[in-house]
Amino acid sequence: MIEETKMNSTTPEVAAELRARPAFVMVSHVKPDGDTLGAGLALGLALKRLGKRVAYFQQDPVPRNLRFLPDSQHVSRDLPENLPPDTLYVFCDMSDSARAGEFLPPITRENVLDVDHHLGNARFGALNYVLETECSTGTVVMHLLRELGVPIDRDIATCILATIMTDTGGFMHSNTTPEVLTLSAELMHLGANKEQITEEIFANKRLAALKLLGRALNEAQVEHDGRYIWSYVDEAMLAECRADGEDTEEIVNHLRSVEGVEVSALFKAYDGDIRVSLRSSGRVNVQAAASRLGGGGHFRASGLTFVGPLPDAVRAVDEALAAEGL
Ligand code: AMP
Ligand code: MN
Ligand code: MN
Repeated sequence: MIEETKMNSTTPEVAAELRARPAFVMVSHVKPDGDTLGAGLALGLALKRLGKRVAYFQQDPVPRNLRFLPDSQHVSRDLPENLPPDTLYVFCDMSDSARAGEFLPPITRENVLDVDHHLGNARFGALNYVLETECSTGTVVMHLLRELGVPIDRDIATCILATIMTDTGGFMHSNTTPEVLTLSAELMHLGANKEQITEEIFANKRLAALKLLGRALNEAQVEHDGRYIWSYVDEAMLAECRADGEDTEEIVNHLRSVEGVEVSALFKAYDGDIRVSLRSSGRVNVQAAASRLGGGGHFRASGLTFVGPLPDAVRAVDEALAAEGL
């Protein structure tokens, strides 16, 4: 890849492009979270206020706990017909475009804007707006909203606050800077409904999810002198607890919270390939470990997809973590 395509676009350049285009598709990643979806909805709502045509593409359905987000009822894996040829596709919160899944039609690079905060983002758009120091893609979007001068109404404020609360783990992770708290307070003044976000995203667990957590904790293995803990979820465990993939979300964070643990891993061995979630307490770079196996993410939270049986996945992840100093 040539060097220019690696560069970031400036805030005014991206805002000018947004003003120039008539229509947009906001694109979220597969297995969506509150950041990818909230960032797209916030920018989509703002662009609608500017009179633009906006659609939301997401391959997977909106998770139950995110259905309260304004405009999420319009999210679909089917794109509207008759989109103009200069429609801009805005990929939110993904380090490469493959994270959008397989259902998008072919899109030429000139119609792609990549908005993200992941380390090692591939800069796959004609315009790339990647701010690695931001806590969420929603706060990256916030810079664009300010540049565009769009009024932040309560719906937009709720979407942005949801991205912050998702990616900071409810203001718990180390990316919760004073600036993040100041912005969050500002969003609450603008009408963001923090209580609703807390209730819907964090306090709304199905009993099945808690049973599955218990089941996964029972299977947990502690290795590397207590610095590493891993577990798995397979089809049988899901069936036994009457749970589904959405109920696995928090398990890896609970594993990480165990005393002395530096890295936790959860192997999701259902739906074909094995999806692995990694979390770090801050010493080991799990983004670097995941990228050794074709995945990515952040220093303290990353993921990858492994093709092969579970024991091979467990061994490969152990080796990647060891190579990163676990
Ligand atoms: P998760 O464990 O699914 O919550 O993901 C944690 C972080 O890793 C998020 O920032 C994801 O975007 C990223 N991530 C998860 N899976 C992958 C993957 N297969 N490839 C690249 N990044 C991933
Ligand atoms: Mn995400
Ligand atoms: Mn994010």
